[in-house]
Amino acid sequence: GNLPGTCSMKAASPQLYLYHMRLSDDVLLDVMARFQAEMVKGLGRDTNSTATVKMLPTFVRSLPDGSEKGDFLAVDLGGSQFRALEVKVFNDGKQSSQLESKFYPTPKEVIQGSGTELFNYVADCLLDFMESKNLQHKKLPLGFTFSFPCKQTKLEEGALLAWTKHFKVRGVQGTDVVSSLRKALQKHKDIDVDVLAMVNDTVGTMMTCGYDDPHCEVGLIIGTGTNACYMEEMRHIDLVEGDEGRMCINTEWGAFGDDGALDDLRTEFDRELDLGSLNPGKQLFEKMISSLYLGELVRLILLKMTKEGLLFNGKVSTALLTKDKIEMKHVCAMEKYKEGLSNTKEILTELNLFPSEEDCIAVQHVCTIVSFRSANLCAAALAAILTRLRENKKVLRLRTTVGIDGGLYKTHPQYPKRLHKVVRRLVPNCDVRFLLSQSGSAKGAAMVTAVAYRLAAQRKQIDAVLAPFLLSLDTLREVKNKMRAELEYGLKRETQASATVKMLPTYVCGTPDGTESGKFLALDLGGTNFRVLLVKIRSGRRRSVQMYNKIFAIPLEIMQGTGEELFDHIVQCIADFLEYMGIKGARLPLGFTFSFPCRQASIDKGTLVGWTKGFKATDCEGEDVVDMLREAIRRRNEFDLDIVAVVNDTVGTMMTCGYEDPNCEIGLIAGTGSNVCYMEDMKNIEIVEGNEGKMCINTEWGGFGDNGCIDNIRTKYDIQVDEGSLNAGKQRYEKMTSGMYLGEIVRQILIDLTKQGLLFRGQISESLRKRGIFETKFLSQIESDRLALLQVRRILQQLGLDSTCEDSIIVKEVCGAVSRRAAQLCGAGLAAIVEKKRENRGVEHLQITVGVDGTLYKLHPHFSRVLQETVRELAPQCDVTFMLSEDGSGKGAALITAVAKRLHNIGRK
Ligand code: ADP
Ligand code: MG
Repeated sequence: GNLPGTCSMKAASPQLYLYHMRLSDDVLLDVMARFQAEMVKGLGRDTNSTATVKMLPTFVRSLPDGSEKGDFLAVDLGGSQFRALEVKVFNDGKQSSQLESKFYPTPKEVIQGSGTELFNYVADCLLDFMESKNLQHKKLPLGFTFSFPCKQTKLEEGALLAWTKHFKVRGVQGTDVVSSLRKALQKHKDIDVDVLAMVNDTVGTMMTCGYDDPHCEVGLIIGTGTNACYMEEMRHIDLVEGDEGRMCINTEWGAFGDDGALDDLRTEFDRELDLGSLNPGKQLFEKMISSLYLGELVRLILLKMTKEGLLFNGKVSTALLTKDKIEMKHVCAMEKYKEGLSNTKEILTELNLFPSEEDCIAVQHVCTIVSFRSANLCAAALAAILTRLRENKKVLRLRTTVGIDGGLYKTHPQYPKRLHKVVRRLVPNCDVRFLLSQSGSAKGAAMVTAVAYRLAAQRKQIDAVLAPFLLSLDTLREVKNKMRAELEYGLKRETQASATVKMLPTYVCGTPDGTESGKFLALDLGGTNFRVLLVKIRSGRRRSVQMYNKIFAIPLEIMQGTGEELFDHIVQCIADFLEYMGIKGARLPLGFTFSFPCRQASIDKGTLVGWTKGFKATDCEGEDVVDMLREAIRRRNEFDLDIVAVVNDTVGTMMTCGYEDPNCEIGLIAGTGSNVCYMEDMKNIEIVEGNEGKMCINTEWGGFGDNGCIDNIRTKYDIQVDEGSLNAGKQRYEKMTSGMYLGEIVRQILIDLTKQGLLFRGQISESLRKRGIFETKFLSQIESDRLALLQVRRILQQLGLDSTCEDSIIVKEVCGAVSRRAAQLCGAGLAAIVEKKRENRGVEHLQITVGVDGTLYKLHPHFSRVLQETVRELAPQCDVTFMLSEDGSGKGAALITAVAKRLHNIGRK
């Protein structure tokens, strides 16, 4: 049995009479199971709307870490007493804090009046408090403890679901209580208070206890109301985005049973009490537990027993007929068994009940049965939460701390002991410490605010770092216009020599017409891989392109060695390939995709203007790359090749797509580097003779900005990346937009954030110091929407970066800012190109296709979408189709070679 001692009773024994209120462990285990099921229902996306236990996300994700500091205000509304507080938190390593507060009454006309009146009253009290503490001239952050069920959408935003307890204020339900409080505070022009957080008293209790005991992850209130909160795994919270980490869930367990789930346990007295309450049918679990209703339950029982002649000789007093005449404090006093019956006698006498000794014993017993049932039910639901925590952590034994606050628990002489004992019986595999919170509900709001304040300060710093990466539409438009101007400089004879966007003629004057055929060799140099290809093109009805290729590595020492070594290596690779394909004897026409800026005088002559990306071989700049290749072939003296064309990869891409779609007149690369080519009218190309037809211009737009024209949008990180590159000061636009550099920009930002103490606990690890560790492919992985934060953490771990959950959120944000800017800048450039094409054609509306290649464009989860959106925004008169090229630099080079060969043959005939 649950009851202490036994009393000899007559037939009138309340023990028999109230048999239904005594709950065996079996029944409690059953209640526990029902509550567990209800929690799952409340957490589920599809089941939440019908769940009685609302399981409200609180947006409190972290407990205090001890680094909080500052001066905070709090307002505590909804508990037994309303008060305003000032809490000082010291970052002195001793987790110390100082609290001063002032209580205010909550008159009935305020808590059952209008919303405006209520919040004005709260603001007035706060002002009074601030004046009394001489705080009115300080700007202080405020935490708002609001102990009613609210649907929160942020830490500082939450709509009241329903009033509970004694409150019934008009026009508040469904509205955001924080903005109401803010509005009321703004009426006082002389104070400046910033409401940073709203919390439920349960959360406040957990946070306050969490400040002292890091194991605390449950908050429990047994007072005027009853409720509990606990730290739930984010992955189980369907209603909040994100899977990583934990968030405090305010169970609002007071509503348990509102769907009838506890009807078998409710007695006629529970029903009667409910009918006479402010919110009939609601908070049925709370009405069996909380102090607000205990006395009333006792009164209803005594009244019935008296009416039936079982007590007080059947004489009902007016007091006994009066609602709420018996209060919790009476129940507590009567249950002081150590003091015998004197308290009981006194209380009953005050109610004009003239009790006999037997009456006193019976009444004492009624009190015990009612308050014991409260502890039992509370224990059952708490046991369900503890079991859930244990299962979430996948441990056999759980060690945890429950922070508790509330008048019933604090003042009732037997309540804590009973609760602890039953909990330990129901969940023997949980080692629970019950920690009484010191002014938990009130101070807790300040603690939550202190944590929020710390996080907000960090957020501000992070935002400041990333702000220069957010480009407005106006800025992007300016970039487009500047690009457009640079395109013109590059085309004009006078300005051409000094232009940063070089606008190199390619001598590719037409797109394939489908009559091309034959076997061709192609070389692809200038990207990540060096490749040799054999391309077989068929014309006519069996039109097709077949390709065989082999990838060769170019070691760093060759990329950055002498020109002769580089070209000897290339020829060595060609020899291997010819051997491998068994075609060493055939003198095949060759197209050389050479993806660096080359000044061409014809299709098979190209003088290297300057190396870009990862190349820096000596004695090449200013030389003809076709000559260098021919010489290397001659040096080797093993085979001969007919070098027909030197081709930029952008041109190859355009040609490949042009083979499928004749409307394709632009080629774009977003890979290791960034570049564009397009078909320009001959009459606009001043440095090439002739005004008829079109020629493809390799813009080499990567050099955009090398004259400083976009320095206004370059960040210090861009400058650092530039300074650490092989070609400092050059290719500034490319360094903001292409795969070779994005990861490096991210790394520079991460270093800075770490230095500011915002990441990786302020520790710059060895790996973070390594140039190039942050490859652009990691940006793609990290930014993938399908990836849980846990996986982001794993990626960072592989890079040697030991990150917390918060770190990985920040890293993901940094990657997003850098890649988004890249895509937007690239889009702004492309908008300038399509606009130029539109004006060239003199049409109101242009329909055009852009052939695109490059792994950044193809594999990054957002790059292509953002680029396309930007083009649409900045060039609204152009309808641009983006076409992915299949191996533009291989197939395209062969197609160009084929076209050139065809034209050459025609010329000879
Ligand atoms: P290239 O431009 O060198 O001819 P690619 O178009 O394949 O070749 O681009 C390679 C570049 O793409 C790499 O240098 C790297 O910066 C970037 N990259 C590689 N993998 C990814 C990825 N998964 N997501 C985004 N960018 C990537
Ligand atoms: Mg490429």
